[in-house]
Amino acid sequence: MGLTRKRMLGLMGATAAGSVAASLSPSAAQATARGTAAAFAESHVIHRDVCVIGGGSAGTYAATRLGDFGKSVVLVEAKDRLGGHTETYHDPVTGGTVDIGVIVFEDDPLVRAHFGRFGVDLVPVGGFGTVNRYIDYRTGRPVDYTPPQPAALPTYFELISQYGPIDTGYDLPDPVPQDLVAPFADFVDKYHLGSVVPLIFNYGQGLGDLLALPALYVINNFGVGVVRNILSNSFITTAAHDNSLLYERATAHLGDDVLLEAQVLRVDRTPGEVRVLVATPDGPRLIRAGKLVVTIPPLLRGFAGFDLDAVERSLFSQYVSGAYYTGVVRLSGVPEGVSLENVAADTPYNLPPLPGLYQVSPTGIPGLYNVKYGSPAPLSTDQVRRNIRADIERIAKAGTYPVKFEELEVFASHTPFEIHVSPEAIARGFYRKLNALQGRNRTYYGGAAFSSHNSTRVWTALERILPSIAA
Ligand SMILES: Cc1cc2nc3c(=O)[nH]c(=O)nc-3n(C[C@H](O)[C@H](O)[C@H](O)COP(=O)(O)OP(=O)(O)OC[C@H]3O[C@@H](n4cnc5c(N)ncnc54)[C@H](O)[C@@H]3O)c2cc1C
Repeated sequence: MGLTRKRMLGLMGATAAGSVAASLSPSAAQATARGTAAAFAESHVIHRDVCVIGGGSAGTYAATRLGDFGKSVVLVEAKDRLGGHTETYHDPVTGGTVDIGVIVFEDDPLVRAHFGRFGVDLVPVGGFGTVNRYIDYRTGRPVDYTPPQPAALPTYFELISQYGPIDTGYDLPDPVPQDLVAPFADFVDKYHLGSVVPLIFNYGQGLGDLLALPALYVINNFGVGVVRNILSNSFITTAAHDNSLLYERATAHLGDDVLLEAQVLRVDRTPGEVRVLVATPDGPRLIRAGKLVVTIPPLLRGFAGFDLDAVERSLFSQYVSGAYYTGVVRLSGVPEGVSLENVAADTPYNLPPLPGLYQVSPTGIPGLYNVKYGSPAPLSTDQVRRNIRADIERIAKAGTYPVKFEELEVFASHTPFEIHVSPEAIARGFYRKLNALQGRNRTYYGGAAFSSHNSTRVWTALERILPSIAA
């Protein structure tokens, strides 16, 4: 795939922002953000009620909804586009689109209202009439496998319902029940849930080694909202199969209130206001706001220049990240309409060991296939690209299908993903302390780490705190 015009503009913009950041020495950045706001021409100072950092699912939602509350907002996003994990590939040959990030949404009034305000039509999720074939990608050989009927799904639903909406927020009983802290494998064994494991593995792509994870994270990801939509077959998606439309229209709606390709250099939260110094392609800007909403993944390395206090620092330093990568490959030699699912011939529930491919599945565009790749821990993107190719080529080498890898048309790293803490930290009340951050230091937190990797739940969680932010 050649370098598209949009991508080229994006690269040029990123260079511009980078050079502005580089032109400010740390001491200059510090002096600028601290007491010397007067050093900024007033035209370079942005006064708002709320500054939102991170323009993915959470930040875009928070910024648009705070407008409904009558608040002035500025949304600071590092990339050249809003959307975060929502990404759409536009095939230059057919004009077709493939969502390579977020695909489905729960059928929920809040979801319909959010898309509705931007005039983006929603439809029930359909398939491409695919047929699954099961391959052990370690050998490239077919596996004689039929997924079990998820007969235990109602039992699972009943069990997780007792904890309330854990998928919307980590509002856990105190003390945290051992069932949530122990590995998900124990939860499965104790309640005879084996028949739902392959379904959860398939839905919960990006979770990594889900049998080893504390059950809390699996229940958070595969929560009551998801199960309800599976049972009633009610997931929805955009009619255009282009979920990025939501973010393109939100960008237009927010207008000058969005700073794209903006690098946060410094954050100072004083008793009177929040000051955020950002490098933008148009030069440095000082944001002076009443409150701050942070929606970036709360890994310590993402907070360079922030005046985190000891509690925030201690909590964020405990997170570790899983890893998830997606893309679109051009292949020949795969039978029409066939999805090549990764299952292992010799593991519990036939779950494939990770790092590895989840599957290679049709996109609806001839010759183009979705690839989804997971790892319990981040890998270099070069390594993942090589692994994807090698895994696919092994199928032909084994003589299973004459698959020819033509090209990786687009590749996206969705890492960090599913950041989590140790079972001991969960038991010690990590999430009670995390939730107590809301409102301290004029700061509110939103996004997947505070709800779950589910846009519907991310937005539902934000609805709970919007009134406090707007107060
Ligand atoms: C491949 C994939 C498929 C998925 N499929 C679905 C699905 O079908 N349905 C569903 O509901 N959910 C799905 N999810 C879950 C999805 O991740 C969440 O719904 C949602 O994207 C989380 O929103 P967020 O705002 O927390 O994070 P993000 O969407 O990742 O947004 C964070 C934003 O912050 C920006 N950022 C980071 N650091 C900085 C910084 N220092 N300064 C400024 N900006 C910064 C990032 O560039 C990004 O735009 C999927 C996720 C992935 C990765």
